[in-house]
Amino acid sequence: MNKIAEELQTVTRPANIRTDELMSAHTSFKTGGCADVFVTPGNIEEAADIVRLLLARGIPYTVIGNGSNILVSDKGYRGVIVCMARGTDNITVTGDTVTAGAGALLSRTAAAAYDSSLTGLEFASGIPGSVGGAVVMNAGAYGSEVKDVIDSVRLLDTKTGDTIRLSGDEMEFGYRTSIVKSYPYVVLEAVFTLHRGDRKLIKEKTDELAQKRRSKQPLEYPSAGSTFKRPEGFFAGKLIEDAGLKGYSIGGAMVSDKHCGFVINKGGATSAQLLELIRHIRQKVYETSSVMLEPEVVLLGEDIVL
Ligand SMILES: Cc1cc2nc3c(=O)[nH]c(=O)nc-3n(C[C@H](O)[C@H](O)[C@H](O)COP(=O)(O)OP(=O)(O)OC[C@H]3O[C@@H](n4cnc5c(N)ncnc54)[C@H](O)[C@@H]3O)c2cc1C
Repeated sequence: MNKIAEELQTVTRPANIRTDELMSAHTSFKTGGCADVFVTPGNIEEAADIVRLLLARGIPYTVIGNGSNILVSDKGYRGVIVCMARGTDNITVTGDTVTAGAGALLSRTAAAAYDSSLTGLEFASGIPGSVGGAVVMNAGAYGSEVKDVIDSVRLLDTKTGDTIRLSGDEMEFGYRTSIVKSYPYVVLEAVFTLHRGDRKLIKEKTDELAQKRRSKQPLEYPSAGSTFKRPEGFFAGKLIEDAGLKGYSIGGAMVSDKHCGFVINKGGATSAQLLELIRHIRQKVYETSSVMLEPEVVLLGEDIVL
């Protein structure tokens, strides 16, 4: 791996490359062992070149954004983590259109829209992900989702090495999913189409949603947001509460007593404990309601499977 860390210096600055990087510093759960190599591209073209180099060398890699929807093994990640963060976080506003690099935080993107009196991204202002992660997951809240405001997405096709642009329709968005879940694209940039609005109303809506979040969600603890997808016809949090698991904990991993849909790190949790709790919840909920919950959180690392 040191060899690839060295070779990566041909496509990005040495300061952007780290070895044996603790993933707990890059995940909202605040858990996870070391990634062999951790690289933060300096710009979008570099990101594409880095992935092309890794593909050419056959090195395992995973692209992440803000780490707010991943659970990384305590044993870490064998390969290269390409983290889209600063460097790939450019945001430009032209007319009713906002173009944001994959590494731009959704909150900053929503703030840029507000600054230009554009409405449509208020729902996203409290989602702690990057634009790339939000596109992959079709992130959504309070009745809106990324799909509603996406014009197009620029992607790296890792099978051909080319960059392409897909329209919102071609992105195959669904509930917390997109084409990137079934085809190994890397999201490089997204274009959002918004509408002229009243700044005062945009701010009021943003503040109202932030207040809703603060009152309903355990934002004071590390988590990955809703741990499970919403099963059709049910609410995951209600099923978990009905299974008697409110406040249930395994080590430092706990079912939030504020919102049962959140598994939190109440302090000192390991990824193994979080995973064990996720498994326990699935089993108990299945026993009590015959619904098998599907995790929304993405598991990363060789030994971390349900
Ligand atoms: C407190 C809290 C509240 C939350 N509330 C919500 C909510 O209301 N609605 C909601 O939908 N989600 C919510 N989430 C979950 C999370 O913020 C979203 O899923 C977010 O979109 C993930 O973005 P990210 O940049 O953190 O992605 P990451 O966690 O870094 O990655 C998620 C997945 O996307 C892939 N990925 C990331 N970037 C790229 C890229 N550029 N190209 C290809 N693949 C990529 C990763 O490999 C991984 O599979 C919440 C999380 C927390 C901690």
